[in-house]
Amino acid sequence: MCIFCKIVAGEIPSRKKYEDDEIVIFEDIEPKAKIHLLCVPKEHFAYLSEAGGKEALLGRTLVKIAALQKELGLEDGYRLVVNQGENAGQTVKHLHIHILGGEILPWE
Ligand code: 5GP
Ligand code: ZN
Repeated sequence: MCIFCKIVAGEIPSRKKYEDDEIVIFEDIEPKAKIHLLCVPKEHFAYLSEAGGKEALLGRTLVKIAALQKELGLEDGYRLVVNQGENAGQTVKHLHIHILGGEILPWE
């Protein structure tokens, strides 16, 4: 089982901010911004290139993040990042959306 599947299953502890039947949102262990959360679909797949048939899940996930904006402390804005593969530095091969905010985020 991959590390995020273990977090989803509760086998590895995490600071969960939100959970429903298809996604979990928890704090990144090595935050790169004042607020750094990870949004993970409960179903294991590594890449967007494997997400054929999961379009509705991905759409619901983005809309859910937006609905949670205030609750997550992101009322002043936020950034979503999805690293894909080697060049992007993806280290965990379970699809995840980084949610960054809580401060003005550098862009260069
Ligand atoms: P990637 O580099 O694959 O896009 O992002 C993986 C992220 O997972 C990194 O930001 C890293 O800090 C985070 N991470 C890795 N292991 C754990 C863990 O055990 N718990 C939590 N909460 N985050 C983790
Ligand atoms: Zn997994």
